[in-house]
Amino acid sequence: PSLRREGLSSVPHVTWASVGGLDSLKKELDHCIVRCIKYPEYYKKFGVNMQAGVLLFGPPGCGKTLIAKAVAHDAGANFIHIKGPELLSKYVGESESGVRKIFTRARINSPCILFFDEVDALTTKRGKEGGWVVERLLNQLLIELDGAGQREGVYVIGATNRIDVIDDAVLRPGRFGQKHFVPLPGAEERASIIKALAYSQKKPISSTVDMDALARREECRNLSGADLASLVNGAAMAALEESLEPLENGALSLSSSCLDPSIELSHFEQA
Ligand code: ATP
Repeated sequence: PSLRREGLSSVPHVTWASVGGLDSLKKELDHCIVRCIKYPEYYKKFGVNMQAGVLLFGPPGCGKTLIAKAVAHDAGANFIHIKGPELLSKYVGESESGVRKIFTRARINSPCILFFDEVDALTTKRGKEGGWVVERLLNQLLIELDGAGQREGVYVIGATNRIDVIDDAVLRPGRFGQKHFVPLPGAEERASIIKALAYSQKKPISSTVDMDALARREECRNLSGADLASLVNGAAMAALEESLEPLENGALSLSSSCLDPSIELSHFEQA
C-alpha cells in the first residue's frame, strides 16, 4: 500500500483518438489487453490464456509509447514506465530484486500496464555485451514473465528499436510471444497523425489547411509521428508569435492567428 501512496503510477490521459493511424494494432491491443482488463470473468470462463507480454518494435518516434499509454487509459489501468538502461544503472548489484520490485509494484497497482521501453538493453543476447548484470536481469525478467499465475491484472508491453539483438528466450511464446511492427507512417497515416495531434492538443489549425494534401507532400515522406508532432508545434509557435506581435505594438487584445503546419515544412526539407 505504501508503494501505491508514493504515486509512482497513474492512469495516463492519452485516448485512442490522440493516436493517429495504427488501426490494426489498436484493434489487436484492444482484444488482447483492454478487454481482458475490462471483462476478466469472460476470459476466465472461456479459459483463454493470455500471453505474458506484447512486444512493439520499429523505428523511433512512431507511437509505441503513445499507444501503450492509450491502452492503459482505455482499460482504466495504471501505467508504469520503465526504461531498460535506467533499470540497469539503478539496480546494479541488486538487479534481480530490482525487477522483482517492479512487478510487485505493478501487482499492487493492478490493473496495471508495465511498459518496458528500450527492452533490448535488458535482453541483449546473452554472453555478448553487458556481462553478468544483463544476464541476471534477463533471468529475473523471464521468471516474472513466466509467473503468469501471480500476474493477475498486470500486462507487460515491451518496446524496442532493435529487435535483432533481443535474446530468443525472451521472444518465446508465452513471454513476449506477440510481436507487432510499428512502422513509419504512410501518407494516409501521416494525415491521421496530424489530425490526431491537432485534435488532442486542441490546436486552432487554419481552415484553409488541407491536411491530406500536406501529408502527401514529398517533404513529409520519411517523417515519423514525433517529427510530425514537432512540425505541428513549430507551426503553433509561429502562429503564437504572429498573435503576440500586435500586443507588443500596444494593441489591447490577442489577434486570432491560426496555424498552418505546411509553413514549417522548410525546416524538415533542410534536415
Ligand atoms: P522511441 O522508440 O523513440 O521510444 P516511440 O515509438 O515510443 O519512440 P512515441 O514516444 O510514442 O514514440 O512518440 C513520440 C511522440 O510523437 C508522441 O508523444 C506523439 O506526440 C508523436 N507521435 C508518434 N506517433 C504518433 C501517432 N501514431 N499518433 C499521434 N502522435 C504520434
